[in-house]
Amino acid sequence: MVLFPVVEPLLDARGRLRTLSELSLEEMQSWFAELGQPRFRAGQVHEWLWRHLATGLDEMTNLPKDLRQALAEHSSIGLLEVDQEQIALDGTAKWAFRDAEGRRFETVMIPDEDRRTACISSQVGCAMGCSFCRTATMGFLRNLTPGEILQQVAHVKRWLAATGQPPLSNIVFMGMGEPLNNLPGVLQACQTLTSPKGMGMASRRITLSTSGLVERIDELARSAPQYKLAISLNSSNDTMRNDVMPVNRRHPIAELLAAGDAWSQAADWPVTYEYVLIGDVTCTEQSAWEVVELLRGRHCKLNLIPLNPASDIPLRSPEESEIHAFERIVHGAGLLVFRRKPKGRDILAACGQLARKKA
Ligand code: SAH
Ligand code: SF4
Repeated sequence: MVLFPVVEPLLDARGRLRTLSELSLEEMQSWFAELGQPRFRAGQVHEWLWRHLATGLDEMTNLPKDLRQALAEHSSIGLLEVDQEQIALDGTAKWAFRDAEGRRFETVMIPDEDRRTACISSQVGCAMGCSFCRTATMGFLRNLTPGEILQQVAHVKRWLAATGQPPLSNIVFMGMGEPLNNLPGVLQACQTLTSPKGMGMASRRITLSTSGLVERIDELARSAPQYKLAISLNSSNDTMRNDVMPVNRRHPIAELLAAGDAWSQAADWPVTYEYVLIGDVTCTEQSAWEVVELLRGRHCKLNLIPLNPASDIPLRSPEESEIHAFERIVHGAGLLVFRRKPKGRDILAACGQLARKKA
């Protein structure tokens, strides 16, 4: 039974061909129903895409040939086009992908002993305007689709296998963009990342990182508390935070911490507060004491990130002695503190260093 000639191509709202990677399992099932195909075929395609990380329809050998042909005519897998690959001296790898309009977004793979973490982008650019972050200088260009988010992970997994490295262990949404500004797309991708028919990852190996969109944190607490949450605190009082993170003018620190508390209660998991250490700004002894006041008694961890410098950001990375002084105070006060090791700085792959290439 061949029904394909009557099937409309799979188009998005802007009339462009949608890729198979963009479809949730449910969407694929209803499209296949329109194609007159049995439901289980959608599951098979989904498994080819996300369990076997197929790069071509011809690999999907358990699908009938005419189906593969029709899929090829009406859609595509949606592989990302690699614009640039860079490997740092410490083994950190970074890829810049280019979309059909030539816009670039980046993915980083960070090795740490046996762990392999993919740091993925949720948007091209970012609208949040944080003063210390290179992505902010791009402004917001667009949300990435679930398929583009997933294919970043698939790309890292294929590359790890091809280079004989341990498999991917963690995913952090700490590349370009504010993931909670693209929450439906991010959650659809997370669904496939964790589903047994998809990549089958444990939810707590996925971290969503936010600059502090309080309503969306509440939404996560209500509807998807299974992932880890990182909140970029990055300042020790409202005056300072208004200055470095404009989002604070909408949602001041007290409101943000209350949302964090509610999330950790719903998730039964500690919030990770990230804190970028900027010389003379956020990395002072007074700030350290203020951070202690803010976080003491909360169900949380504190992750210190020394500022990764960039020539277009007029802020200073603190000296080791300043970082130590800060650490001594927060640690001494009993907070659970970690320091993020800078990785991949030589290829501008560290936190906050992702941005489009200068023309
Ligand atoms: N938009 C989200 C996730 C992407 S940014 C967020 O802001 O949380 C990921 C992390 O990188 C955030 O904690 C952010 O504060 C941090 N970051 C941004 N610019 C940085 C820089 N120049 N040096 C160090 N960390 C930076
Ligand atoms: Fe956007 Fe996060 Fe960068 Fe702020 S730190 S501009 S929210 S990517």
